[in-house]
Amino acid sequence: MDISYYKHSGIYDKYFNKAVMQPNLPMLGYNIPNLLDYIENKYFHEIGFNMSLYFIDSGPLACITKNNNKQAIIYIHQVLNHGDVPIQVIELIILHEYCHLIIEGKEENGKYTSHPKDFWEFEKSLYNERNHVWLWIDINLKSCIKRDETHECILIKNRKWKSVYGNYECDYDKIKEIKDSFERYFL
Ligand SMILES: [Zn+2]
Repeated sequence: MDISYYKHSGIYDKYFNKAVMQPNLPMLGYNIPNLLDYIENKYFHEIGFNMSLYFIDSGPLACITKNNNKQAIIYIHQVLNHGDVPIQVIELIILHEYCHLIIEGKEENGKYTSHPKDFWEFEKSLYNERNHVWLWIDINLKSCIKRDETHECILIKNRKWKSVYGNYECDYDKIKEIKDSFERYFL
């Protein structure tokens, strides 16, 4: 999602400024600037943004902010800042946030949305394993996510996420098996 809702709701300083001023140490086991470079070069070359990434302790699963100087920051919730989180999950989330820089929100069926139909089509066209990743998120974070339809984001419940952190019950290979057998059965 984009960050405008948080800016207007007054919780921007609390969550997002803190993430920048007192950054959480990345625990993913790989270098984040390298991953950002890789994603930008592979999917978004010539976009020309100076991108950073920080982990937030509270708020949404992920979001992005940008300014007129072509600087952008992706924020990802701490629940995903762990070495057991598959790289595909982090990759798709970063990619999703990059898509917000390309496809602006607009009115659809009389209502503004930051994820119009062409946004989802664009995201889908970029990443083969997109559905596996969303399934990993749905299964592993189910006890701590809350979908906020009004603001089009996935919120992480403050009191729940620590019990999920590092205890992701279904690994990525298992997700692939579930997804593939599901598709064989229904298609
Ligand atoms: Zn979004």
